[in-house]
Formats: sequence, C-alpha cells, structure tokens
Amino acid sequence: MISKTEFQRGRSCSRYLYLKQNNNDLAEPRIGSAKSPANSWQQVENLAYQLYHGGVNVFDKSKSLRELAEDTIKAMEGDASIIYQPTFISADGNYYFRGDLLVKAQRRWKLIEVKSSTHIKLPDHIFDVGFQYMILKSLNLHKKIDVHLAYINKNYILKGELNLSEYFIEENITHRAKEIQVLIKKTLVQFEKANQRKYQPQVDLGKKCFDKEKCIFYNHCWKGIPELNVYSIGRVLNSQLNYFKELGITRLDEIPSDARLSDSQWLEVNAALDGEERINKSRIKEFISRLGKGPLIFMDFESSMPAIPQFKNSRPYQQICYQYCVIIQDSIGKNEYTRKEFIAEPGYDPRASFVKSLLEDTVTPGKIIVYNKAFEVTRLRELANQFPLFKDEIEERISRIVDLMEPFEKKYYYHPSFKGSFSIKVVAPALSPEISYKNLNIQNGSIAMQVLEGMHLLSFEEQIIAKRDLLEYCFTDVLSMVHILKNLNNLIKKEAA
Ligand code: SF4
Repeated sequence: MISKTEFQRGRSCSRYLYLKQNNNDLAEPRIGSAKSPANSWQQVENLAYQLYHGGVNVFDKSKSLRELAEDTIKAMEGDASIIYQPTFISADGNYYFRGDLLVKAQRRWKLIEVKSSTHIKLPDHIFDVGFQYMILKSLNLHKKIDVHLAYINKNYILKGELNLSEYFIEENITHRAKEIQVLIKKTLVQFEKANQRKYQPQVDLGKKCFDKEKCIFYNHCWKGIPELNVYSIGRVLNSQLNYFKELGITRLDEIPSDARLSDSQWLEVNAALDGEERINKSRIKEFISRLGKGPLIFMDFESSMPAIPQFKNSRPYQQICYQYCVIIQDSIGKNEYTRKEFIAEPGYDPRASFVKSLLEDTVTPGKIIVYNKAFEVTRLRELANQFPLFKDEIEERISRIVDLMEPFEKKYYYHPSFKGSFSIKVVAPALSPEISYKNLNIQNGSIAMQVLEGMHLLSFEEQIIAKRDLLEYCFTDVLSMVHILKNLNNLIKKEAA
C-alpha cells in the first residue's frame, strides 16, 4: 500500500517509490532531526486539535491500517463530530492516508490538513490534499467530505492569550483537489509501471537526493559516485547538471575546459582536483585594511523563530534574539581580549534587555565584525523598529559592521575542504583548527535554537546547565571568528616575510 508521504516522495523520484515498495531493507534509518520544538509541525497540529477540541482520536498504533480505517468510518457513523487522525484506505486497497482532523460542519464533513507553513505551498500541498481526495472519491465519500487546508496566519500578532481562530487560516480547497485529479491519476499510472519493472528505474541523481534532507536511499543510490563529483559544485544549476548528463560526465576531472562554469565554480573545481588552497592576498589585504587599527568588536547573535509566538507583540516565525556574545580585542592577533555576553531569562520577552545590553557592550569604537552580516543587520533593524528610542544608536552600530564571510564568499581564500560552502562551521576547521566544537554540549545553531526555545520548560537546575552550554557555544563561534581573522592576517604576513 502506498501512503501519502510515499506518494509525495515518489512524485519527485520514481526510484524512491520502487525501493520503498520492493527493497526497503536498503533504506538508512532516520536520525532524529534537530528541528526546533516550537517550529515543529506536531506543536502546530496540537493547536489545531485545541481549536477543534473535544474530538475523538481514532489512531491507535497497536492496530492495523484496516482496523484504523474501520474505526474511522464507525466514528463518522456514530456520535463523533470531531475526529483526530482519521485513516482512509482506497477502495482498491492500494493507497491510504492518515489525516489530521475530520470535523462535522452541519451535514457535511471537513477533512482538515494542518500545515505549519504560512501559505499554501504549490504544488506540494495541493498534491497532498488531492491524494486524500482521490482516496475519498474511490470510497464515494467525496460526496460528504470537503478537503481543507489549515495553515498559519503570518500576520497574526499575539496580543494576550493565543487566539487560535485568528492564528490559523483555513481554506476549502476541494475545487483545487478536484482539478488535480487527472495529474494524480497519471502519476499513479507511472508509479505502477515503475513498480512492475524487474529493475530499479533509472533516474537522474541530483539535488532531490539531499535537498531538504538526505534521502533514506542516498547511500544505496550514490554508491560508486566519486567524492569529487559534479553535484558537489557550489551553486550548480540544473542546466549545468543537464549539460554534464548529456556528456555522460560525473567526475570533476572529466569536465571539459570549455564547460560553462562561473569563475567561482572553476576555482572550486580546480582546487578540489589539485587539493590546493587558493589565496588572493591582495584582496585579503584590502579587506583587512578596511578593519582599521582597532579595537575590533567580534559579535554573534543566537535567535529562534517559533511558529507559535511566545511574547506579546510578536508574530509566528518572528526571529527573536535571546543571546549574544561580544569579544573586544585591541587589534588583530592580540592574545588578550574582553568577553561580554547576554542570555535572556527563560520565559521572559528578551528583546528590550537584549538591545539595551548589546548597545552598552558595543559602545567601544571600532569595526564590529560578524559572520554573515545580513542576519545581524536584519535583526538590528527589526529591533530599531520595535524600539525607536534606540534607533540612532542601533544605526550607528550597523554602520560599523563588517562581514567576515566576505573573504570566503568572494573566494579571496578558498580551501578544497569548503566544497563550495562558506559557512563558519565549514571555514573554521581550515582556518582556525585550534578552536573545536567537539567538547561542547551544543555544537550547532539548530540545537542552540532548540534549547533557547525550550528553556522555559526546564527545571531551574537544567536551565543553569542549558545557559552555560549556550554561552559556551556562542562564545566558541565568536572565538572562531577571532582566530579566522588572525590566520587570514598571517597569510598576508607570510607574503611580506
Ligand atoms: S537517493 Fe535520489 S535517486 Fe535515490 S531514491 Fe533517493 S531521491 Fe531517488
């Protein structure tokens, strides 16, 4: 039987569906994702249950799909007017789905699919609901069930208690589900053909294999693909991949010299092939000269963007800054530095105290160095809008910001280990190997976000530990920047020597 999730995945890759149906033993086990709890679909779905409270949950993991489908029909025929997690199996027994909510609205039912997005994602959400409609139609239930989508109202502003009927937007999209039936049928016919084959369908490997998350069959499908492959080129376009495919090229060393790659991509390819770093010393020198004599203020923020607003006057998915770390150094390479930091009290709106404390800690004149300035500048502009009193001071800090990502993004320095990326977690091991995240309890930004959002739910003792871990993590990011700059500067000094 093909589930809704498999149908959706199979739309982008027929081999996925084939493997899922015929060789599921080749799948890699899923490792839990580091998604923030407040961003998770589960929490949003729970809110939808609260909006339609008092229902009956017909899901029971000890039961078979058939039993669950029977229980759903029984509940519909009984007294229930709200049913959670209803299961339906198509009349031919080939397809099934477990929905989110089934709500009786006068003489009809609404099957509501809950999404944690702030809009209807095309075409995915329509295919999603269209698949449900196809199954309902096969059971003749489309005559009494409409299909709806509920998603988050991005303009909702929390004023007090969360108002669920304003937080969610619900749309009847039955007409769109009907319109897409022809395409769904066509897709299912293709699935059948693919599944009847004796061999796995030949498909193009590509971004679909690791786009949102790594496919469970990645290790199987990519077995034998060389590490230095055309898919690893940074910002590679589909048109470029198609061109390589036409030429039958997978390995980087097979790329013809007249291939249409950007200068930046050629630099990457050549560095990967000869294993040598690329250093444009004059551009690095020019970048460093823009920093002036000092002092230098290194700065990093930690934030989260909860799907469910936690503080008054905040919106769903609004970035909230909870924490920063600042290191002040007299000049590049100086061993002594001053460390300043802030972390919000769990459960309290951190925005006002964050901005006040930050302005105090960055009052020292000198360039303010961040990594990926778009993030910090945007957060500061948002704070300036929320706190007009501090607008001028915030703008003054923004005017001093310099982006340490520039030398890597513009490839003044490139190391083959970057593999087209220039995130600090990729750059740091090459340029500041003396700084390690290995012994930290928090080792990346997604975990930090998760801890920040959930900290108010911890015990007092756990909060102390979480705060300590977060402070160490943010400090390590900033210290990495200090060392990256020092080592970039050393590259120039080597030339002078
Ligand atoms: S790894 Fe790629 S080709 Fe293989 S099943 Fe997954 S998406 Fe399809």
